[in-house]
Amino acid sequence: MNKQKIDCGCDQVQQPLLAMDKALNILLDAATINTNTHCTSLDDSLYQVLAEDICSTINVPDFDNSAMDGYAINLKKDQINTPGILEFQVTDRIPAGNIGNELKPGHAARIFTGAPVPKGANTVVMQEECEPSKEGNSIETWRPLSLNENIRPLGNDIQIGDVILPAGLQLKPQDIGLAASVGVAKLKVIKKLRVGVFFTGNELVEPGNILKNGQIFNSNRYALVPLLKQLNCEVINLGNIQDDLNSTCKALETLAIDCNLIMTTGGVSVGEEDHVKSALEKLGKLSLWRIKMKPGKPLAFGHIGKAAFIGLPGNPVSAIVTFCLFARPYIKKMQGISNYKNQPVQVQCNFDWRRPRPRREFVRVKLDHSTIPASANLYPKQGSDVLSSIVWADGLIEIPENSTFSQGEVLNYYSLTELTQ
Ligand code: AMP
Ligand code: MG
Repeated sequence: MNKQKIDCGCDQVQQPLLAMDKALNILLDAATINTNTHCTSLDDSLYQVLAEDICSTINVPDFDNSAMDGYAINLKKDQINTPGILEFQVTDRIPAGNIGNELKPGHAARIFTGAPVPKGANTVVMQEECEPSKEGNSIETWRPLSLNENIRPLGNDIQIGDVILPAGLQLKPQDIGLAASVGVAKLKVIKKLRVGVFFTGNELVEPGNILKNGQIFNSNRYALVPLLKQLNCEVINLGNIQDDLNSTCKALETLAIDCNLIMTTGGVSVGEEDHVKSALEKLGKLSLWRIKMKPGKPLAFGHIGKAAFIGLPGNPVSAIVTFCLFARPYIKKMQGISNYKNQPVQVQCNFDWRRPRPRREFVRVKLDHSTIPASANLYPKQGSDVLSSIVWADGLIEIPENSTFSQGEVLNYYSLTELTQ
């Protein structure tokens, strides 16, 4: 009977749970983009977010150049596309970084990849298709030669004025390479977010100690801090905080002074030992609490002064899943990243789902790549305390509310590799 009540999307506090999409919208609508910027060198720019468009002031390449080691040739009109053996006198040698002399009609120059094509040359023939004479002062070719073979023309990749990287882009190695290719040495990027964290629970002990009866190791701290660091945040960590209103308020007040975001785990449920929600209501504003999803029902969001607050559930799987599905896009939007939403792909399920459940579920699955397309196998223990499940898994399958399905159903899949990087 009681279980029936929980299943209708309410629970023992008789308050309807918030639909996941609605909760995510509330959170993302409230995310304000950090406007603090600074200049950084290319070397320090990995995963930083561009604060402005990068325009090229040069063409890339800046000159016509050879795509091959071979011979640049000034084909005479009657030599263009002509079958049979042709002979060319070799009058120059142009390694990359050098400028050759103008080529006369019917003449060739030895040329290397990346070297400027000399004036007069109208094609480049790769060395494998040329037979040099013993003396090296002439070559023979034996197939019809067209104009502009193996020439990379000026501006082929980038032209002056092109926006090569847009504001809001989180810089990957290839983006930094592209910036370097147009000669940009410094980038204006959005400053790191300062995120304050603490972990509630009288039962928590740091790894390295001996557990007394009833105690557990604080694992959330060791998963969440790296998750924040992966997102390029500066982390202020107050460690473990006792389950009482006073300690919780003190920690929140300390972090609210100069953090953009405060994040906690645990103590955000409805028990007498859960003080995070009351503390938030006392010091600031609670905007949402408790979501119709599994794992992760007890999630809270609000503000204390200028600092945003996200209270994650205590159970380790719930903490990681809600971090990935809520905190991650929220943080990315605050960081000015234009592409901040998590992107699912479609994956086939290798399991049945027989009992409809009112909460949206995110189940831990591993992909079987021996099927085409790949299919998802379910971890047998889906409890929110089973941290091994998320270590075993490749990703999460999103199971819609109130649904049943049979093996073969195609559903949204979120890769954990993506969610945790
Ligand atoms: P709570 O939300 O505080 O009621 O915690 C829910 C469950 O998560 C309890 O079993 C806690 O012991 C556990 N838990 C809370 N915080 C942590 C943590 N930092 N690391 C591992 N487990 C935790
Ligand atoms: Mg607790």
